This record gives sequence, C-alpha cells and structure tokens, in this order.
Amino acid sequence: MKVRVLPSGQEFDARQDEPVLSAALRAHFNLPHSCKSGHCSSCRARIVVGEVSYPGARPLGLTAQEQAAGFALLCQARAAGDLVIEAREIRRVTDVEIKTLPCRIEAREPLAPDVLRLWLRLPAVESFHFLPGQYLDVLLAGGRRRSFSIASPPHDAARLELHVRRVAGGSFTEELFAQDAPGALLRIEGPIGQFVYVDADAPVIFIAGGTGFAPVKSMLRHALERGTPRDIHFYWGARTPADLYEEALVRAWAARHPRFHFTSVLSEAQPEAPATSVQERGWVHETVLARHPDLSGHEVYAAGPPAMIDAIRAQFPAHGLAAERLYFDSFDYATR
Ligand SMILES: Cc1cc2nc3c(=O)[nH]c(=O)nc-3n(C[C@H](O)[C@H](O)[C@H](O)COP(=O)(O)OP(=O)(O)OC[C@H]3O[C@@H](n4cnc5c(N)ncnc54)[C@H](O)[C@@H]3O)c2cc1C
Repeated sequence: MKVRVLPSGQEFDARQDEPVLSAALRAHFNLPHSCKSGHCSSCRARIVVGEVSYPGARPLGLTAQEQAAGFALLCQARAAGDLVIEAREIRRVTDVEIKTLPCRIEAREPLAPDVLRLWLRLPAVESFHFLPGQYLDVLLAGGRRRSFSIASPPHDAARLELHVRRVAGGSFTEELFAQDAPGALLRIEGPIGQFVYVDADAPVIFIAGGTGFAPVKSMLRHALERGTPRDIHFYWGARTPADLYEEALVRAWAARHPRFHFTSVLSEAQPEAPATSVQERGWVHETVLARHPDLSGHEVYAAGPPAMIDAIRAQFPAHGLAAERLYFDSFDYATR
C-alpha cells in the first residue's frame, strides 16, 4: 500500500499489519512521534484519503471527536488501503540518516542500583550521525524493539552512551542487568526522534525525570561544551538522592558555567535533608512552575516518565508556554 504525506507529497510503502509510523520510519521518513504506544499524541495526523484501523480499541491519546474529525495516531493506525495523510513534517531532522547497525557493548557501569551506563561501540567503517536528544531502538528477536536515548553528544560520539533503567519484569532490561561480561552484540536502529536541541537566544529550561537525564545530558553537553549565549536552567526530578546518579557531574558544570543553573528535586520525603535552593522536595514540574510562573519567552525541553510529560503538557500552557516552544520525549514502554 502507498502512503502519501501532505504537504510535501512524498510517498512510502506500508504493510497492512504494521503501524503507519513504523512503515514511515523504515522508509527513513521521520514523521513526528514520541511514545509509540498511542498515548502522547505526537504522531497525530489527518487522514485525507483512505481508511485506517487499530488492532485494539481507539488509542488513549485520540479522542472520539478527533477520530470523527478524521484524525489518527500513526503509531497505532494500520492502513486499510492506500492513504493520503496530512502530517506535520519536521525539517530539522530530515538530514539525519536512520541506519540499522550491529554494535558491541564495550563497557557497562552501574550508575545507581537500578541504572546501568552502557558504552556502545559501532563498527569502525560506519558513520553514525545524530542530533543531541535523539534515541535509538535496540532490535530484539521477533520484531520487538526497545528505545533508549543517546546520552553522549554528537561531538563526542566515538562510543555511544546509554543510561538504562531496570524495569521489574522487563524482558530486555532484566536480561541486560543479569549479564555481567561486556562484549555482547546488539543490533540497533537509529538515530530516531524529533526531540532535538537547537540553540537559540531565548532562555531555556530543561526538565528530566529519572533516566530522562540521558537525552538532556547530550543536549547540555552540546550546549555547554560548544558554547551558548543563553541562560540555561536544568531541573532533575527523581525519587531519592541515589536516583540523581550524575548529580556531582551536573553540579561541576554549574560551578564552571555562570549562566547554567541546576536544581534537583526529590519526590520521596527526605526528612533528614531539608529543601534548599539547589535541592527541592516535591514534583519536578511543580518546582519549575513555582520558580518560573511566567514561561512566555522560554523554551522547555522535557524527557522522562509519561506522567511527568503529561503534567507538563497539561499545566505549562496556562503559564504562557507556547506549544511550539515545548519539546518533549515521553519514555513510554513498548506494547510488545
Ligand atoms: C523515546 C524513548 C526513549 C527512551 N529512553 C530511555 C532511556 O534513555 N533510558 C531508559 O531507562 N528508558 C528509556 N525509555 C524507556 C524504555 O524504552 C523502556 O523502559 C524499556 O523499553 C523497557 O524494556 P523491557 O523489555 O525491559 O520491558 P518490557 O518487557 O517492555 O516491559 C515489561 C512491563 O514493564 C512495564 N514497563 C516497561 N517499561 C517501563 C517504564 N519505562 N516505566 C514503567 N513501567 C515500565 C510495563 O508494564 C511493561 O508491560 C525510553 C522510551 C522511549 C519511548
């Protein structure tokens, strides 16, 4: 089946049994998306001609009114025949080639009790160009895939750094934590995603929840090590101090760069350690709003758990943040 994308008119092939978004990504056509589980609505597009179906019920991120108005979520929708769709096309990532490559886990280091840092070595003959904030998919047996953000910046990419949180009962991450020898081979596809940092003049706020620090680290290193004229505020939310696994590194950046300000926010009560101006208690998005009640004129980049992203998307516009100045990656999990 053919899928034509308006307004550019470009086309790609899709099978009836795969999500339209997967077919687009396979054809190296980088349509907007984030969670890939029908939740975050980033991949919402209008079906101009043709019909789509969903393997289960209507996805949670699509309202009945939107569906009736002809909208679909491409990460879940299957094409019932040829389609013409109208989708937001993201120019800034179109130059990046998505590749499928083998790579070796060259080193693994525990960062926290449930977070591992992986260093991936790509084949020497292959070039792998990515933008700060993008992610890759680890390809598993049976067509399953697991997404992880690249924590290293593009200017330091001899090895790729990933931060992997262990998910209790998770098929990929539990197995990864059970192995202890480096050298295992993985097959990856990437770089993927529109959560990409672009330098600008406006003040910028970065928000990470847990391992949402991974793409933010790539973006911050890109901005700080290459130099930027803008004021940068970074808020990192986690449950306990151990979950702020590279807090010392970020504090060292703040000491070195006068325009970079860092606040950590702990959501689980720490009675022995009262809140300070650099370490707060509560939910990270609420701390951001308390510190920046007027977000007009700011850009916000946020990555982490779906609940944190949902809260930011629901509450920040009322504080003056324009939708096109909010960039986010929701760490939803795969549906199989
Ligand atoms: C764009 C993107 C980027 C991501 N980047 C990172 C990253 O840099 N670091 C990182 O640690 N994770 C990241 N994630 C999340 C990561 O992909 C999942 O945690 C991972 O796929 C889990 O794989 P698994 O096979 O171990 O678990 P699965 O076998 O897929 O899951 C088993 C069950 O565990 C639960 N589960 C799975 N994942 C999560 C989760 N994240 N939170 C809560 N419950 C879960 C679900 O109930 C699920 O059914 C990212 C996700 C996306 C979409």
